[in-house]
Amino acid sequence: MLYAQVVLPLAQPMYTFSLNEGLGAQVGDAVVVQFGSSRFYTGIVWSITEEKPDYPRLKPILKKLYSTPLITPAMQRLWEWIAEYYMCTLGEVMRVALPSLAKPSATSLSDLDERSIEPPTERYIALTNELRTEEALAEYVAKHSRRAPRRCENLDTIAALAMERNAEDGFVPRRLLSIDNDDLITLRKKSLIRTEERVVQRVESSSEFLTPTLSEAQNIALNKIREAHENEKVTLLHGVTGSGKTEIYIHLIAETLAQGRDVLMLVPEIVITSQLVERLEHIFDGRTTTYHSRLTALRRGQTFLRLASSSGGELIVGVRSAIFLPAKNLGLIIVDEEHDGNYKQSDLAPRYNARDCAVVMGRIYGANVVLGSATPSLESYMNSLAEKYAYVELTERWGEGVLPEVVVSDTIRAVKRGERKTHFNFDLLNDISRTLAAKEQVMLFQNRRGYSPYIQCRTCGYSPRCPHCNVTLTQHKASSRMECHYCGYTMPTPSVCPNCDIQDMALMGFGTEKAVEEIARLYPEARVDRLDSDTSTSERAFKQIVHNFEAGETDILVGTQIITKGFDFKGVSTVGILNADNLFSVPDFRASERAFQLMMQVAGRAGRHNDRGRVVIQTSQPKHPVITYVATGDYHAMAHKELEERRAFGYPPYSHLIRIMLRHADYELLRHAAHHFATLMRKKFGSRVMGPVSSALEMLRGEHRAEIMIKIESGASMQRARKMMREAMADHSAKEEFKGVKITIDVDA
Ligand code: ADP
Ligand code: ZN
Repeated sequence: MLYAQVVLPLAQPMYTFSLNEGLGAQVGDAVVVQFGSSRFYTGIVWSITEEKPDYPRLKPILKKLYSTPLITPAMQRLWEWIAEYYMCTLGEVMRVALPSLAKPSATSLSDLDERSIEPPTERYIALTNELRTEEALAEYVAKHSRRAPRRCENLDTIAALAMERNAEDGFVPRRLLSIDNDDLITLRKKSLIRTEERVVQRVESSSEFLTPTLSEAQNIALNKIREAHENEKVTLLHGVTGSGKTEIYIHLIAETLAQGRDVLMLVPEIVITSQLVERLEHIFDGRTTTYHSRLTALRRGQTFLRLASSSGGELIVGVRSAIFLPAKNLGLIIVDEEHDGNYKQSDLAPRYNARDCAVVMGRIYGANVVLGSATPSLESYMNSLAEKYAYVELTERWGEGVLPEVVVSDTIRAVKRGERKTHFNFDLLNDISRTLAAKEQVMLFQNRRGYSPYIQCRTCGYSPRCPHCNVTLTQHKASSRMECHYCGYTMPTPSVCPNCDIQDMALMGFGTEKAVEEIARLYPEARVDRLDSDTSTSERAFKQIVHNFEAGETDILVGTQIITKGFDFKGVSTVGILNADNLFSVPDFRASERAFQLMMQVAGRAGRHNDRGRVVIQTSQPKHPVITYVATGDYHAMAHKELEERRAFGYPPYSHLIRIMLRHADYELLRHAAHHFATLMRKKFGSRVMGPVSSALEMLRGEHRAEIMIKIESGASMQRARKMMREAMADHSAKEEFKGVKITIDVDA
């Protein structure tokens, strides 16, 4: 008889089960066990031994799922590192790492089984046979191009792609065609095209990829990166927006794939990077797999299983959770926009940062690592100053591109001089007018969605708040309701103040929706659109808005953060930041860094082609250091100044910040528990402990929340700190009265 340690999808340690050799289960296999009196779980065999443990009654492993192990030894080491570093259990890692290949648990054994996973299919499209010859198509186009130019253009697109791909039957993948679904439906109704669902084939494409020719500066950078990789160093690629980092990635990817090794490319958000994904798919066709949370569980399962049995040479482009995919022979990991906050998971355990995991994976897998950004995180920048990372810089835009001119526009002065209409200074309006007259495009960035951030009684000052989260509610005009942006609670907008009964409720501040309304009033001729999480609820809606702007069918695009990332719009010559103040006045020690990154990223959207673009930043604090750094585009000055402040206050990257959150529905009990825990911690950590304080959102979903922060200075042993924290937590939860208080830990919060 053998004995196996099994990881279960729970916040619990591993348990030992007996393993009948006949079952043939190995380390890394998914298995089913019974745990507790009536529940069955899917688990992962973590280790196997012949030594009988001294528990009297061991339960057996009941069955094995899937013919191949799901977890490789390298993945085991990654999970172990994450569980240790981020202070959670392997079971919690499992919950996030394994897509729904089997249910986590069930009340009957038969409910836990392999998911029958059919091979994935995708849609292919071809012109009908009548149009397949060049002459026939040309004849058709000649006849119809006046009355139906778009239809003809689409037919040409399909024919061109079929030719480019040497598709003998004329069929090309739908995903490679940038044609709207509605247009395809029209083509099909008119019997101009045929469609087919085909099983996705991993074509053994050649490793002769069509890589772009690099500029001198790009070549130098590429060579420096190669050199760093020879010395097994992580590279920080710091390249201004439009400098062509992507082209350098493409070369590195091609080299790695040609060696038969896999590449993992992490991106902060997949829909936002759809232009990038399309480019990669064109170059690395048949090798590219995308992975993100909008895929169905089935699709993610299929991807996982396919990769688990792949023979290598795969390009995986995915969001943070893609670090958990089973790459067999990982040769390169690229983290694009490495500074992006989306790489950190903070809402549930494991609270990991995928960028930091990527660096650890480099060591575990023996893979090269490139972190790329136009505005690197101070953590990575400091590592490059300390020469832990190789530092490679691209300071100029590719080709003729020049960085935009930045204009700082003082809102208070503008009001005083009567040079402001509603929320727009004349500086910005003049630019918009000029841009529209030249038939070019405008992007306006406003940090808040909705109509206006909150509504306030002008008589008594009351403004409605979320009863669950204690934050002001945001007015959404379209639905005429107010919404909590933390928990989603909504209520109708009151016309009479609920507090003093006087009819004097006024909208304060503004969001994207209101900005659109005002700009449309100022420019009745312009075509205005809005991109934020309210207008892009589906991927399709999102793509439509982006497509319209790209095609020049929209003149002014107003949006939140979502417009700042990754887009490469050709016609944008003016970018406006409507209210910079609310970027750097949030209560967060990273506020300045984040504000700089965000504004630089927004600015990077202007004038990416030919003409020099202009960026107008509206602020009431034109002398604020962040504004100055953005205006001069001086990342290094910003970074050095920020680092000085971080050092003075002992913030990261000079320390690790651990955030401990306590939650309970009973406010008094929570307060008591938080003080008790803070006292326990102070005995161990002294003045490194801060708090307890009420959390930024004091109450969420009916629970009160309190926070304790610990700063562990760099150089101190994190391992020892974690051990001491575990002891404090054990002491705390040993107290009967605090049993119901939930504690969560966020390392590097
Ligand atoms: P980044 O990712 O650094 O912001 P991109 O890689 O998106 O920059 O490049 C900016 C623009 O310049 C893109 O339109 C890209 O096609 C073009 N470009 C950059 N390098 C090259 C190159 N070597 N050959 C052709 N086009 C390039
Ligand atoms: Zn709420």
